[in-house]
Amino acid sequence: MDIKTVGIVGAGQMGNGIAHVMALAGYDVTMTDISDDALKTAIALIDSNMERQVSREKISAETKAEAMARITTTVTLTDLGPSDLIIEAATERETVKQAIFEDLLPHLKPHTILTSNTSSISITRLASRTDRPEKFMGFHFMNPVPVMQLVELIRGIATDAETYDACKKVVDKLGKTAASAEDFPAFIVNRILMPMINEAVYTLYEGVGSVQSIDSSMKLGANHPMGPLELADFIGLDTCLAIMNVLHDGLADTKYRPCPLLTKYVEAGWLGRKTERGFYDYRGETPVPTR
Ligand code: NAD
Repeated sequence: MDIKTVGIVGAGQMGNGIAHVMALAGYDVTMTDISDDALKTAIALIDSNMERQVSREKISAETKAEAMARITTTVTLTDLGPSDLIIEAATERETVKQAIFEDLLPHLKPHTILTSNTSSISITRLASRTDRPEKFMGFHFMNPVPVMQLVELIRGIATDAETYDACKKVVDKLGKTAASAEDFPAFIVNRILMPMINEAVYTLYEGVGSVQSIDSSMKLGANHPMGPLELADFIGLDTCLAIMNVLHDGLADTKYRPCPLLTKYVEAGWLGRKTERGFYDYRGETPVPTR
């Protein structure tokens, strides 16, 4: 099937990035959020991010104007019903995602493909609560969406080949690369990345190194572009903790035990860049380590 229209649920950091790349690739995009402010912020962000691409001569001003005109926003979830493809990118909470799909179902076209951008929740379980588990899969973008090359495509146990192929074609049209993953906790990237970040927090917790020494060790010693704690702040410490809990619960192995210090930061509301404080304090001109 040929996908032309895309409905995006959630206009947060991922939703706005997904709308950005979809509109540039020529898809008609309808984006929804429960918060009208989030939609306004998302449109302003997409506009300024595309403007940066214009100033760097990556796209023309005309391409930008055409792409912006392809994005519409609505606070009414059911306006997404006629879309060929739905990408759910709302808050990482299973009950939130389930309720979204439940409310959407009566308004969808029979051919509509349902996908979730979830970082860790079971695709098979989300799919099983819909009327079309064979047309349901994981469509997992990386952050920041316009920059990162990879999309993980996750097959639930019931996902059919036609659905997978249709989503793969979308990834190709975006000019990104798809990695095929089976539906086990946290899929591929986060299954490997999050335990590394969690281990970095343990290294801090046990006093092996400071925030600064841990980050510069991994940058200079392992050639990582960002240190693990800096990266955790970028992703969001609540998201990191949620993924570790999914790994711990889903694989029942103590090696995935979330570090108590990570839990402590989340309890404090120090969630990283989005709250201006995490392993670094971002309220001044340059980030200052908080430990
Ligand atoms: P975010 O907090 O920036 O945005 C979530 C948005 O969802 C918010 O604007 C919120 O108002 C909206 N929302 C909540 N309930 C809703 C509902 N019922 N209907 C419509 N909108 C609703 O979160 P994010 O970082 O954009 O993450 C979104 C999803 O993407 C999560 O599933 C997350 O696991 C996944 N993800 C995140 C990253 C990352 O690095 N942040 C990377 C890959 C995937």
